[in-house]
Amino acid sequence: MFLYRSVIPDMPDPEAYAPLLREMHGNRWYSNFGPLAVRFEDALAARYGAGGSEACVCVTSATAGLSAAIMAAGVTGNVLVPAFTFPASLGAVRAAGAIPVVCDVDPDTWTVSPDILAQALRSVSAQAVMIVEPFGIHQALDALIDLCLDRGLAVIIDSAAGLGVPREPRPVRHNVFTVFSMHATKPFAVGEGGCVFAHRDHAVGLRSAVNFALPSHPGDANVRWGFNGKMSELHAAVGLAQLERIDGIAGERQRQAAIYRDRLAGQEGLVTPDAIDRSPWQCFPVCLPSASAAEALVARAAAVGVEIRRYYRPSLSQWPDTAVAGACPAADSLAGRMCVLPLRSGASQDEAPELMRRTVAAVLETMDDIGGSHV
Ligand SMILES: *Cc1c(COP(=O)(O)O)cnc(C)c1O
Repeated sequence: MFLYRSVIPDMPDPEAYAPLLREMHGNRWYSNFGPLAVRFEDALAARYGAGGSEACVCVTSATAGLSAAIMAAGVTGNVLVPAFTFPASLGAVRAAGAIPVVCDVDPDTWTVSPDILAQALRSVSAQAVMIVEPFGIHQALDALIDLCLDRGLAVIIDSAAGLGVPREPRPVRHNVFTVFSMHATKPFAVGEGGCVFAHRDHAVGLRSAVNFALPSHPGDANVRWGFNGKMSELHAAVGLAQLERIDGIAGERQRQAAIYRDRLAGQEGLVTPDAIDRSPWQCFPVCLPSASAAEALVARAAAVGVEIRRYYRPSLSQWPDTAVAGACPAADSLAGRMCVLPLRSGASQDEAPELMRRTVAAVLETMDDIGGSHV
């Protein structure tokens, strides 16, 4: 329907992982922590891990990884979840048998702040906090993590779209889990997949959680139930091939994100991220001055064949049957105003200049149209 879709997956050519599939077939080992999955985990840990005391565990999706982290942390009660996120963050808490309680976010960082957390904890008790890094933009979360750990809360960081660039350097601590997605639409795409980085003491619990709570060594893990969230050898093969490409993918997407940032700079009331090196950019978020402006942009872009999606909408404060720690005005407002602009890497990269030209024009014309009403 659209000449330019919002996202086109950028997966490795099958030729690149065919030898690995033959290796898999020779091994007659297709899942359950097989040799390719172990090799992939080791490679991810070497590339993105924090070193010695941190482990990487591959899983079937970021959603599965979030659930596994909650279970490995022994959390069964309330988990604070920010209202401005993809609904997977909420569903993963429910799937783990814990109870999501939605809280607001900071209007500037788009995620939970120490102040918001402290305020939420005045009205509800919680065993864990999910911190979402919207659009996979890595943030300095040290003060927030310190506050959580001081209060005895486990920390689950949903950085789903953020795999492919160096992580923020921070100490490896117990009960802090960082989860990434490898869904086909994410920059580090394998089809369906994800990984969890955590202190190596949690590796057994994470593996147990994604393997029906079967302990790999009896008595090792205190995970009381589990599910099937193991990465298959097929996906690990694709992942090993993608690892060879990811720096090129992230580099190209960052180059395009910087063009969007520069072309859209100086527009009164339009907010775009600044630190281009902090994400591999699944898409480039722009926050419009109003919900009606966001709607107008989507329509204007569609008229020139470009699909622009609204993101993290509705705010999870509106989700059915879901408890909230209080009103979520910042998240509700962001959810109404956030749009994401398309980027291209890999086989569809050639269409990026024309796609971006049309997209930038649509944003600037939208801002022109509403000029005056938002000063
Ligand atoms: C994509 C995404 C997820 C879900 O990832 P899957 O691997 O598809 O489960 C979760 N949270 C956020 C913020 C996402 O962007």
